[in-house]
Amino acid sequence: MKIGIVGVAGRMGRMLAAEVLATKGVELSGGTEAPGSEFVGVDLGTLVAAADTGLVVTDRAEAVIETTDVIIDFTAPKVTLVHAELAARHGTAIVVGTTGFSAEQLTELCKFGDGNVIVHAANFSVGVNLLLGLTEQAASILDEDYDIEIVEMHHRHKVDAPSGTALALGEAAATGREVNLDDVSTRVRDGITGPRPSGNIGFATLRGGGVVGEHTVMFAADGERFELTHKAADRGVFAAGAVRAAKWTTSQAPGYYSMRDVLGFV
Ligand code: NAD
Repeated sequence: MKIGIVGVAGRMGRMLAAEVLATKGVELSGGTEAPGSEFVGVDLGTLVAAADTGLVVTDRAEAVIETTDVIIDFTAPKVTLVHAELAARHGTAIVVGTTGFSAEQLTELCKFGDGNVIVHAANFSVGVNLLLGLTEQAASILDEDYDIEIVEMHHRHKVDAPSGTALALGEAAATGREVNLDDVSTRVRDGITGPRPSGNIGFATLRGGGVVGEHTVMFAADGERFELTHKAADRGVFAAGAVRAAKWTTSQAPGYYSMRDVLGFV
């Protein structure tokens, strides 16, 4: 199975290339970067401190996409939508880890699942996907006496907030409570905010240092507080999950899938 990595010189792109090179039964078929990138023309092995692969970074995405079975995309929303369109045109499956999509962009991305295999997850770690399931379950059991707050921390370079994972956890909690997240969420608090509305799902965002990704879902009542926490210490967990998802695409009919589908979690 051939796997191509778009955005291969990024923090995740390099991890993904290393993971593909280390995985049996799959072959690294190419890597792309933005036009004008200093990495265009560089051997993919150089990016991951490995031996030369004979494949160089290219800015011609279509050339990689049309000759591979699946691409993995951890770039930026606008860029991912261009890649998803090219992938759909060539019948190449696509695994998307990019976060920060607007509601309109997300609708556009979902539509590519009508005729192509697309796996999209805000977080590809097994632990976070378990956390999503547990959050939904806890929210269905603990009533509105338990205030739900979602706290996340990431490295200083992250450009979107709250994180895609925090929002996915909010969706899981809202599903458990059988409410619409948009109707009950507070994404930012500042100034005289007044008392906390009952049934609200709150978010708090921390940024700093090299933190790979930490998420806590709190259920805070008068006499007790229940917390579920996940801490990622190494980007390798996301890369391993994305490559597992890429391998899984071979046996799938067209559709828009999540990592919970890949792992078989309900
Ligand atoms: P990054 O900025 O290090 O990497 C993005 C790469 O995409 C850069 O190298 C950039 O040059 C490249 N790029 C931009 N335009 C391009 C184009 N037209 N063609 C090809 N490449 C292009 O960012 P990162 O930390 O690797 O994160 C990337 C995305 O992945 C973010 O949205 C982040 O939130 C998300 N992420 C998701 C998970 C997950 O498990 N789903 C985990 C970590 C990060």
